[in-house]
Amino acid sequence: MSATAPITQDVRTIPRTLPDSGRQNLVGLTRAQLGEALVAAGTPEKQARMRVAQLWQWIYQKGVRDFAAMTNLAKPYRALLAERFEIAVPQVVDRQVSADGTRKYLVRIAGGHEVETVYIPEVDRGTLCISSQVGCTLTCPFCHTGTQKLVRNLTAGEIVGQIMLARDDLGEWPEPGEAMGERPRLISNLVLMGMGEPLYNFEAVRDAMRIAMDGEGISLSRRRITLSTSGVVPEIARTAEEIGCMLAVSFHATTDAVRDRLVPINRRWNIATLLDALRDYPRLSNSERITFEYVMLKGVNDSDDDARRLVRLIAGIPAKINLIPFNEWPGAPYERSDWDRIEAFADIVYKAGYASPVRTPRGEDIMAACGQLKSATERGRKSKAEIAAETGV
Ligand code: SAH
Ligand code: SF4
Repeated sequence: MSATAPITQDVRTIPRTLPDSGRQNLVGLTRAQLGEALVAAGTPEKQARMRVAQLWQWIYQKGVRDFAAMTNLAKPYRALLAERFEIAVPQVVDRQVSADGTRKYLVRIAGGHEVETVYIPEVDRGTLCISSQVGCTLTCPFCHTGTQKLVRNLTAGEIVGQIMLARDDLGEWPEPGEAMGERPRLISNLVLMGMGEPLYNFEAVRDAMRIAMDGEGISLSRRRITLSTSGVVPEIARTAEEIGCMLAVSFHATTDAVRDRLVPINRRWNIATLLDALRDYPRLSNSERITFEYVMLKGVNDSDDDARRLVRLIAGIPAKINLIPFNEWPGAPYERSDWDRIEAFADIVYKAGYASPVRTPRGEDIMAACGQLKSATERGRKSKAEIAAETGV
């Protein structure tokens, strides 16, 4: 844990329309849903397609929240839209900035629930780590989110809204008159590695990512979006076909006995079943490599034998292995592997022909690193019985 004190900023009060305004929020609607909403509001069917494209550009490319500013729409039409609809993103209720520049946003969504979103600036890119659920139904015992009950799935609007609120905070929207792509993007990459299991909220994640990838939406290449799953096997082929982004899988162990404990979903879909699903992913999604995430837990999964088994298991799958030094959280039942152990493990993997970057912990001083996210305000903590039912410990 870093000794640097976090800089906590005051609650930022960004004026937002209340969700109970009675107006329908347009953020997160698919093209088809938005088209239907516009027609229901009186837009002639023949114009719907064009209006959807215009609105998407204002909302997702220019960051405009006020219909009155949409100058390529006729004034009476702007007024009609303002009466029926709103453009609302979740509210940032706290923002912390790490000594290393990582920003963590505490985001309030409808119903007063909270999730966390993290922005990680690097020399050649900026990655936004977004959440898909409040809490998680799974109980991986090394993960802070796993100690919290699932409260609810996020909507597509709340998922895409996290990108928009981060762009607000970073000042990333183009100035009026400035063309898209004129300056380097601060958010150049997206990872679905925040709170929750994205493949247990498939439709909302898919719809949000389609907006993120669309040339008239947020406009990020599918190669710059990585979805991390603990291994929800039945949804993996669907992810390739319906989203087509890069895939990361929380592998973390090389025997079923250990993976059953560390990633309890393994009891449902074991290593062999998971690997079968992964083998087809690159072809189905037309992407090059799958990322195997591997959290380094001292004395649990970090031996030379584990490293050798790992490369044997994934033989034939185009892969990159991402070693994640365990990030501690209060009461965590594990310790981070020593650095020389991590290096020895990485060396075996590298010599077997795989890229094996070690993920630098970012934002540890503000509890923003992988697996440290948890909504402090949600009271629902899993009971011992629930944890035992999932993990058997
Ligand atoms: N639910 C999804 C995505 C969120 S977690 C999944 O499990 O893949 C993103 C990554 O962080 C996963 O690989 C997860 O296993 C890892 N992780 C969780 N807790 C961690 C911790 N305390 N230290 C390091 N990595 C952790
Ligand atoms: Fe859920 Fe992923 Fe954490 Fe496991 S690692 S408890 S699947 S968020």
